[in-house]
Amino acid sequence: MKDDKKRLTTASGRPYFENEDSMTVGKRGPVLLQDHYLHEKLAHFNRERIPERVVHAKGSGAFGTFKVTADISKYTRACLFSRVGNECSVFVRFSTVGGEKGSADSERDPRGFAVKLYTREGNWDLVGNNTPVFFIKDAKKFPDFIHTQKRDPYTNLKSPTMMWDYWSLNPESLHQVMILFSDRGTPDGFRHMNGYGSHTFSMINDKDERVWVKFHFKTDQGNKTLTGAQADEMRGKDPDFAQRDLVEAIKSKKFPSWTFYIQVMTEEQAKKFKWNPFDLTKIWPHSEFPLIEAGRMELNRVPENYFADVEQAAFAPSNLIDGIGLSPDKMLQGRIFAYPDAHRYRLGGNYEQIPVNRPVCPVHNYQRDGHMTVNGNGGAAPNYYPNSYDEIVADKKYKEPGQQLNSDYADSYDRNDNEDDHYTQPGDLFRKVMTHQQRENTINNFIDGMSGIEGPKREEIIKRQLEHFKKVDSELADKVAKGLGF
Ligand code: NDP
Repeated sequence: MKDDKKRLTTASGRPYFENEDSMTVGKRGPVLLQDHYLHEKLAHFNRERIPERVVHAKGSGAFGTFKVTADISKYTRACLFSRVGNECSVFVRFSTVGGEKGSADSERDPRGFAVKLYTREGNWDLVGNNTPVFFIKDAKKFPDFIHTQKRDPYTNLKSPTMMWDYWSLNPESLHQVMILFSDRGTPDGFRHMNGYGSHTFSMINDKDERVWVKFHFKTDQGNKTLTGAQADEMRGKDPDFAQRDLVEAIKSKKFPSWTFYIQVMTEEQAKKFKWNPFDLTKIWPHSEFPLIEAGRMELNRVPENYFADVEQAAFAPSNLIDGIGLSPDKMLQGRIFAYPDAHRYRLGGNYEQIPVNRPVCPVHNYQRDGHMTVNGNGGAAPNYYPNSYDEIVADKKYKEPGQQLNSDYADSYDRNDNEDDHYTQPGDLFRKVMTHQQRENTINNFIDGMSGIEGPKREEIIKRQLEHFKKVDSELADKVAKGLGF
């Protein structure tokens, strides 16, 4: 007889009569091996954790919408941008980078700002940060760099010595380090920070013309930051304050939003740009490449279940839609391998079938089988191509125009294209953008951070870093040196 009672069941759905008392021989035990419900319960519990993300382990997420507010269809044939007013759902995951899953939200660290746009021509993942640049410009450096942000292999402690040793030996990180040690390195929650696609991407229009683009999400809540002291205090007071702030804002219907802009550089401009336009340690100045408004994103729904959606969210910079493409940016090229690879390891080969990752449009291809296939696996349809049965076509209209490559030798190039200029843009930030107070805070944050350098190489590391600061700004170098007693 059917009724509506919600009964406790085993994982296979058999209604089960109790949940707390193991089956025993007599009141005192021992426990019987035949209590399969006990095994299932303990065994599943043992498997509750999946591998933590090596980077961006601590995060918060929310669903929302993206709406096109201005016409940029002359740059892109992306279906999303075909008409002002077009909308799609989004899922956004914010995160810190270096800490473990339980680390504090107020750590001085870049913030991940990963957006998944569920368009009718596939998912577009804009996997960015709250900073427009990054510490390195070649993915080959990434594992070494990240090791310096994690724990010392001997002490198992975070190590300013490792960090500054690396940064001082890798001056291309200076621009990002300047931003990190400004108050923007400790944003006041996720709602009050900008997001940047950071890399150079491309857009292709319906005439098959390509331009280079950068993506910006500017917070409509206004930028708000914590001082170093406030961030330290928050670490003890409420290590999850950014998660709390996001959830509470959405629950009380104060939906956070961001205005979306693009910067556009033509292929001709790219050839003449004074820096390599594909260098992830550089921005494109707004005065030369103005922000063009294109959309608005709002977050308005907290996921029903954190693990299901936030922990299992898998973003990949390779998830692009027709009309939006890659660029030669070396970091971007590395990330298009690394991200899907990480997801295959953490979530399995069929991670795109997990609801939060699943496209809202049909998926047709010949990928079959593997762990946890839950999408019907293509049913009885052919699993090979070409075949005489199905009507799946590889439609040439989605082909991107070819790109002319230069005829240089394949090699591991060290420096080229004015790439040793690690100093001009951090200098612009320090002198032209920061207020007096922001400069003072940045200097104090540097003194505070570098005070933690210890061991026999302390003097050598500090002196090396001060030499870089000198090339950015003499006031900066002098004041940091003084603060450190040099
Ligand atoms: P603009 O004066 O036109 O823009 C400065 C930008 O800096 C604004 O987007 C502002 O964001 C942002 N900003 C302000 N304070 C900080 C900070 N402490 N850390 C990071 N960003 C900050 O200048 P330019 O375009 O000529 O660039 C000058 C410098 O500004 C660059 O070298 C770079 O360091 C920084 N910058 C430039 C960006 C760009 O895409 N051009 C983007 C972000 C930073 P907001 O308007 O939201 O306050």
